[in-house]
Amino acid sequence: MIINEDSTNQGHISEEQLFSQISAAAFASDQKGQFPHFEFDLLRASGLLTTTLPGQNLSLDLPNTPGLLQLLKRVGRASLPVGRIYEGHINALLLISLYANAHQAQRWYEDAHTHLFGVWNTQDLDGLEIQDLGCKRYRLSGSKTFCSGASWIGRPLVTGKLISSDKSGWQMCIIPTEKLEPILADSSFWNPLGMQASVSFRMNFTGIEIDEEDLLGSPDDYYRQPHFGAGALRFAAVQLGGAEAILEETHRFLNDAKRTEDPFQQFRVAEISCLTETGNLWINQAAKHYDQWLHMPGETEKLLAYANMVRTKIEDICLRSMQLAERSVGSRGLMRPGVLERMHRDLTTYLRQPATDAVQASVGKYVLNQINTNGLWI
Ligand SMILES: Cc1cc2nc3c(=O)[nH]c(=O)nc-3n(C[C@H](O)[C@H](O)[C@H](O)COP(=O)(O)OP(=O)(O)OC[C@H]3O[C@@H](n4cnc5c(N)ncnc54)[C@H](O)[C@@H]3O)c2cc1C
Repeated sequence: MIINEDSTNQGHISEEQLFSQISAAAFASDQKGQFPHFEFDLLRASGLLTTTLPGQNLSLDLPNTPGLLQLLKRVGRASLPVGRIYEGHINALLLISLYANAHQAQRWYEDAHTHLFGVWNTQDLDGLEIQDLGCKRYRLSGSKTFCSGASWIGRPLVTGKLISSDKSGWQMCIIPTEKLEPILADSSFWNPLGMQASVSFRMNFTGIEIDEEDLLGSPDDYYRQPHFGAGALRFAAVQLGGAEAILEETHRFLNDAKRTEDPFQQFRVAEISCLTETGNLWINQAAKHYDQWLHMPGETEKLLAYANMVRTKIEDICLRSMQLAERSVGSRGLMRPGVLERMHRDLTTYLRQPATDAVQASVGKYVLNQINTNGLWI
């Protein structure tokens, strides 16, 4: 557990200290093929890798979404690659809470104390297949791309096409990596503009064999709504952390440069402040709606439309904040090892999420399908 700032307990650090240490480590971690070990050691020691388990502060079986999204934002503010990997860990634990049987849940929750989880769904043409061999054994073939955390994830949750005589669909499984042959990691896939430290490699599962007990849920559970679509709230929260870091760094740069009295600079800082606060209003409101609408029959489409609005607006907020900040600090403020140079690369990369156009269009479609626009989001 994180101990409050006023704690004098040896060996524990406050949240402020935790996030400032993660932030300070971000430059050193911004290297090709480098996993942010130090940062995850801190997160583990702080209890944040298990904070969503039953009975913990942000238990996923209680309406804790406001706290969870703020936590994700704070991790993202400290480091976007760490935020990306951390969000995958939380997402896997959520999918377990939704779809695992009691025995599996107990096993994987225990694993969360020692292993990192991740969710690897993206793939190219050589995507994953899960072949039923009979006798409750399954053989994997094919690859996943953008596998954040790569070989450092001890419990990757991967999805693939189930090939079996009695069931078919998009199947989740969780790989007990240390019990199997190593999964081949292709680091040459990961040559991004930013987010180096998310180590989002291509992973080849061909030849890996797993048990029935490693399959999570039924085929197609992964895409069940509103859980799949509303998951966008979590990455949007991490992204908003990036915009807040940009505001913080612009504030620091202008103060150091003694350029705070200039009205144009004040104007731009005002605008970035409005943008980040707007982002917080969106995130907080969405979190409340999520907890309220999740279990209400008939509200799935509304929740998805709301989450898609949030995702679209946060992308916009981040892009505009970046542009304003860059105009404020100029080229001198965009040099390595400056935070803004890295933030520009990391946020630009992390803002690229799938199907952005379709997501925005789906909001318009939802609204147009209503009888009128009175009380759209109540
Ligand atoms: C840092 C990072 C880490 C990641 N980690 C993971 C991970 O751990 N696990 C995982 O599963 N994935 C991960 N991903 C992948 C991520 O979820 C997305 O799948 C990926 O970023 C796709 O981005 P894209 O911009 O290529 O998307 P696209 O969907 O290709 O979007 C690009 C553009 O094309 C448009 N478009 C989309 N579809 C069509 C179409 N059919 N016709 C015409 N236009 C279209 C979009 O609207 C958009 O304008 C990660 C991505 C990043 C950047």
